[in-house]
Amino acid sequence: MEKKLKPETLCVQAGWQPKKGEPRVLPIYQSTTFKYDTSEQMARLFDLEDSGYFYTRLQNPTNDAVAAKIAALEGGVGAMLTSSGQAANFYAIFNICQAGDHFVCASAIYGGTFNLFAVTMKKLGIEVTFVDVDASEEEINAAFQPNTKALFGETISNPSCAVLDIEKFARIAHSNGVPLIVDNTFATPINCRPFEWGADIVTHSTTKYMDGHATAVGGVIVDSGNFDWEAHADKFPGLTTPDESYHGLTYTKAFGKMAYMTKATAQLMRDLGSIQSPQNAFLLNLGLETLHLRMPQHCRNAQAVAEWLEANEKVAWVNYCGLKGNKYYDLAQKYLPNGSCGVIAFGLKGTREDAIRFMDNLKLACIVTHVADARTCVLHPASHTHRQLSDEQLREAGVAPDLIRLSVGIEHVEDIIADLEQAME
Ligand SMILES: *Cc1c(COP(=O)(O)O)cnc(C)c1O
Repeated sequence: MEKKLKPETLCVQAGWQPKKGEPRVLPIYQSTTFKYDTSEQMARLFDLEDSGYFYTRLQNPTNDAVAAKIAALEGGVGAMLTSSGQAANFYAIFNICQAGDHFVCASAIYGGTFNLFAVTMKKLGIEVTFVDVDASEEEINAAFQPNTKALFGETISNPSCAVLDIEKFARIAHSNGVPLIVDNTFATPINCRPFEWGADIVTHSTTKYMDGHATAVGGVIVDSGNFDWEAHADKFPGLTTPDESYHGLTYTKAFGKMAYMTKATAQLMRDLGSIQSPQNAFLLNLGLETLHLRMPQHCRNAQAVAEWLEANEKVAWVNYCGLKGNKYYDLAQKYLPNGSCGVIAFGLKGTREDAIRFMDNLKLACIVTHVADARTCVLHPASHTHRQLSDEQLREAGVAPDLIRLSVGIEHVEDIIADLEQAME
């Protein structure tokens, strides 16, 4: 029923559905544990034969209401909140990859995800091949191996602002019998719903626009329920063969379209425990209630700032997909017709020191590690978030050494531009 409602209504109303006499506002279930009347009732929960709450590491009603809202916004069958975006991307891959497996990933991605995939997951025996986000279908296909289990990309990449050709990536993934996983953090489901273009699984760092106020680190995984795991049963034994840790239950047989989400919750969250705190889920829900109001303002402001930067003689280059003539303009018109996000990548003429002096002179826009919240902020990835990457890895991730990431907030645009102007002077 929720899926028929418009995104604006879902932002405000989806998820928490109070019954008679219950709080109108989503309560914070600040409880690790939940009560049952008989030992038998509890045993059925442990066998996944009944659904219900028993321990917050696995599920909590506050978290589930917020996850249900995000699932409705993305048009998925289910979702799970995680303690961070990093945890979401790790679980999304680890749910279907094990030691000896491989996946393919667009190289224009967030630096933290790059480290996770290229360094830490490698230590677990899972290999990744990075492909240029703009590579041809043939080049991307060539990266697939018999043990490849997923294709991954970001709708709009952080910080390089590349736009993913989701339909093309979905086609490639499906022709190779694997799901497409899309990190939709920057676009949010207000501006793009990757499932409508063939993506199978969506992840978010909810820390960014979804929370929107920089109050709580968090993540989410959403499943479309569309990928047919049984059709490629040999590739996904974790979903299609019995799980010893649940008395031989097979996720696809027992849970159908919810197989992937159930395994992520019942097995990965049980064992790895990166749950979002109910307090943070409550804050995330408050953010979501205005996501549909904030995103258009971010986009309007960013469009005006990008145009102003492009016309400024001190600016060497601007990457914002809303600019006509931008490399990603056509893809953005297709996938992000109502606007992309508030993040702009640009470079100043002059030296690296000039860029740093410019940033130090900003007054309204603060230098913070954060991105994508209500307050305008700025960052120099090569010296901050991406400083652990080599020059070659930086270039691979589409991050020029002079790239300044400007995250345009929802203040009045004239004040933002005035600040940029005085700092450039
Ligand atoms: C920030 C970010 C992440 C990591 O999320 P955290 O919540 O910081 O762990 C992942 N993907 C993208 C696109 C991001 O911007």
